[in-house]
Amino acid sequence: MSQTAVHRPQAEFDLVVIGGGSGGLAGAFAAAAHGARVALLEPGELGGTCVNAGCVPKKAMWLAAGLAERMALAADLGFDLPQSPPALDWPAFIAHRQRYIAGIHASYRRRLDAAGIALMPCRGRLRDAHTVDTDTGVRLRAGRVLLATGAHPLRPDIPGAELAGVSDDFFELSQPPAHVALVGGGYIAVELAGVLQALGSRVEVFARGPRLLSGMDAEVVATLQANMQARGVRLHLEAPVSALHATGGGVRVVHKGQEQGVVAEVFDRVLFATGRRPNTAGLGLEEAGVELGGHGEVVVDQWQDTSLEGVHAVGDVTGRLALTPVAIAAARRLMARLFGGQADAKLDYADVPTVVFSHPPLATVGLTEEQARERYGDAVRVHASNFRPMLTALADSPQRSLFKLVCVGEEERVVGIHLLGEAVDEILQGFAVALKLGVTRARLHQVVAIHPTSAEELVLL
Ligand code: FAD
Ligand code: NDP
Repeated sequence: MSQTAVHRPQAEFDLVVIGGGSGGLAGAFAAAAHGARVALLEPGELGGTCVNAGCVPKKAMWLAAGLAERMALAADLGFDLPQSPPALDWPAFIAHRQRYIAGIHASYRRRLDAAGIALMPCRGRLRDAHTVDTDTGVRLRAGRVLLATGAHPLRPDIPGAELAGVSDDFFELSQPPAHVALVGGGYIAVELAGVLQALGSRVEVFARGPRLLSGMDAEVVATLQANMQARGVRLHLEAPVSALHATGGGVRVVHKGQEQGVVAEVFDRVLFATGRRPNTAGLGLEEAGVELGGHGEVVVDQWQDTSLEGVHAVGDVTGRLALTPVAIAAARRLMARLFGGQADAKLDYADVPTVVFSHPPLATVGLTEEQARERYGDAVRVHASNFRPMLTALADSPQRSLFKLVCVGEEERVVGIHLLGEAVDEILQGFAVALKLGVTRARLHQVVAIHPTSAEELVLL
């Protein structure tokens, strides 16, 4: 039977959004606020990766790990704690975490209702530029379609890969593994290593490259690595993992050791954190005429337009900067352009601030020193401060902070800010505003410091 002969219930919308994560929800809310009739398709929990298996549960675990560290510091400073290091009752903490997440789900539902957005708990598939079929048999007619289906964890193609978990599995843990291997050297490997180590696991990280966080400022990453090692995380660099084998008591990780050649070690748990790939399979995209890139990502131009007129994409599915605020900002600007009469609205992807929630956190915006030197050569001036923050100095802990300003030209315009240390996750946002507005080092010096803080280093450098 031909597709056109099938009788399907139909509904008409100005916008159909496929995917109810960070980008899809932001797009749906913004379009509705501009007066559009919107349908949102989401088969899973509202909020997508960020709310359910990303930023939010990760930050909860990071906060718990931070409390454990502070309690250990407190004990070092003379507080009489019942147990040192303090143990976390994981199930009790996870109940708090999931209650918080349930509150976010409920709030989204209320807001969707209030905005008059039709929420459909089903998968969508593009039929053509103005038609989306759902897996419940309903056919939607759409003035425009927004693709916001996100991404999924990538597993390397090595023997035994199925023996390891991914970040989604980390959030299913009900107790910490005693000895855990993290494969990968990016955001997720670094963040999970810090959390697990602080909460009592013995952690080893296997990165294929010579350092962690390959896109970030080398000096700042070197200081982070030293801090991680001082806390007991074992780092294996230039140690690509070639196979996993099941053993009686766990999983054997076969990797190239830096000096020893190929070695194998046994872990209770192995987690891959080796990047993510866009969710574009089974969406009917290529059949409908939407161009995909080499990693399956939806190719978009600077306006978030795909190769098919009327079809747009935001967030991780586009393979660009995979951060929640980026997906949200791109979606809001797109809807301002499509439905809000703002013809020039689009996201500027330059100088997006970001934080790695490591221990301590790493916050960065703009060009790294290496990128700046490549672009501006001898015109680059770097100002840095490597110091022990007061609390760790009081406790005589070896943890160090490193704050760096990368400046260019006679006027020393700030083109990069790279911070490692206590509270930099909160400090960077304001300084990122200044960088975006073209601040110079001299203008930073015009501001009087707040003392005693770590942040004051940035106006004194
Ligand atoms: P998603 O949030 O993944 O949403 C996509 C949605 O589409 C999903 O809900 C999915 O069910 C749905 N979907 C898929 N296929 C279909 C279909 N056919 N029909 C209908 N719906 C479909 N970013 C930060 O900024 N800060 C952080 O601290 C941070 N931490 C992270 C930690 C981890 C462990 C991970 C994995 C990611 C983290 N990120 C963080 C990245 C952030 O989560 C993503 O960039 C963000 O969620 C992307 O939003 P999105 O809307 O593109 O996709
Ligand atoms: P990343 O891209 O950050 O890092 C992937 C890591 O895996 C890199 O070290 C990479 O090495 C390595 N790798 C890739 N393929 C292989 C392979 N086949 N074998 C071995 N190693 C491999 O990805 P993540 O998975 O850590 O996170 C995904 C994205 O989610 C991040 O890029 C970020 O955008 C977002 N995120 C944001 C967070 C935040 O804002 N705090 C937190 C967590 C995630 P190499 O460098 O050599 O390529």
